[in-house]
Amino acid sequence: MVDADALKQQVCAAIDDNREAIIDLAKSVEAEPELGFKETKTTRKVAEAFESMGLSVEEELAVTGARARLGSGEMRAAVFGELDALVNPDHPKANPETGAVHACGHHAQLAHLVGVASGFTGAGVVDELDAAIDFVGVPAEEYLDLSYRRELIESGQTEFVGGKQELIRRGHLDDVDLGIMMHAGNDAPERVVTSDFSTNGFVGKFVTYRGREAHAGAAPEEGVNALNAAMLGMNAIHAQRERFADEDAVRVHPIITKGGDGVNVVPADVQMESYVRAKSVDAVREANVAVNRALESGAMGVGADVEINDYPGYMPLRTDPTIVGAYDDNVRDLVGTDALGPSGTHLTGSTDMGDVTQILPGIHPWVGGFEGSLHARDFRVVDEEMAYILPAKLTACTLVDVLASEERRQSILAAKAAKKDTETYLDEVRSFRGDVEASYLD
Ligand SMILES: [Zn+2]
Repeated sequence: MVDADALKQQVCAAIDDNREAIIDLAKSVEAEPELGFKETKTTRKVAEAFESMGLSVEEELAVTGARARLGSGEMRAAVFGELDALVNPDHPKANPETGAVHACGHHAQLAHLVGVASGFTGAGVVDELDAAIDFVGVPAEEYLDLSYRRELIESGQTEFVGGKQELIRRGHLDDVDLGIMMHAGNDAPERVVTSDFSTNGFVGKFVTYRGREAHAGAAPEEGVNALNAAMLGMNAIHAQRERFADEDAVRVHPIITKGGDGVNVVPADVQMESYVRAKSVDAVREANVAVNRALESGAMGVGADVEINDYPGYMPLRTDPTIVGAYDDNVRDLVGTDALGPSGTHLTGSTDMGDVTQILPGIHPWVGGFEGSLHARDFRVVDEEMAYILPAKLTACTLVDVLASEERRQSILAAKAAKKDTETYLDEVRSFRGDVEASYLD
């Protein structure tokens, strides 16, 4: 019989021993932010941290990315950390050339990833758990920089926009039984943790309206104004909103990425991007039909052409009750009895950890220690212990509790068996891909 409490103490002590190196890694990653599928330096930093623990590392999992494997045994758990930054040039820590910045706390995820690995390698206890643990630095969680991602897709280097989707497609999670990560909380400077919630899924959308250019002052009557078509399309989307049921949690938030070429020319090439998000895959599909119909109506209204390219977004997140139960017990022990946030809430953002939880039992807890809004200029770490160290202990102790208990192992294997298999998941996510073209230009 494994003494889980003793193992947890050893793993936490090993994490404390590596405290400085864990925090240094987070700061080094934060200082050199890189966007998704471009995280070469970040991947190397994570790989070097694993190598310093004596782990062998596999790189270029999906363009970038790194994985180290520890132990062998009946079950395999994966710990994830996201390598990529996002774009917000107004953030004080943004890279002046690219605008990239860790304003979503992914650098803290990597501290967590390396911290958990240092706990298990330092304590040397994985063999007592009859399990293997994968430590995975995952590329490209933020769904952005889309012209580059589309190039990767068009040139066959990737099929999906999201890094975890690519890991699944490439078979890197085929023999994994459960997945754990952490995420920075939104406006959560306190020592709080929320582990039990769901998130929206979505489809990603590129829209191009084509009209006809003409002199905007001398002869606008000879042109067809694609910007007017886009504005009508956007207003037609707004007119759908009263039909979205509250329980579907639909979010549609288009932006215009190109509004014209020159102010004295009737705009003939106008481009938009949007997500269509909702709580369930069916609700995403239903809302997407309405949004595409609305977008087409803009082209019809002014006699322009429209092309809509839909790309698979991310799937809804569904957390696993067994892992949540073990995690929450450790939150009470390590952070505090009143540190736990509400259970069973639905969040209307999205993550590609949702895709992982379509095929595996998993969790994606939000932890405190971060001030300001995620993605905004005021986002920053205010409590290093909570942001970088405690999450590693929470995950490590949860893994011990889950893997040392036959009952929990069985319920996780049963939960996995009830999930979609990889092929069914891939068919479903691929079914979001679609093109709509409508021509009203004479
Ligand atoms: Zn994030």
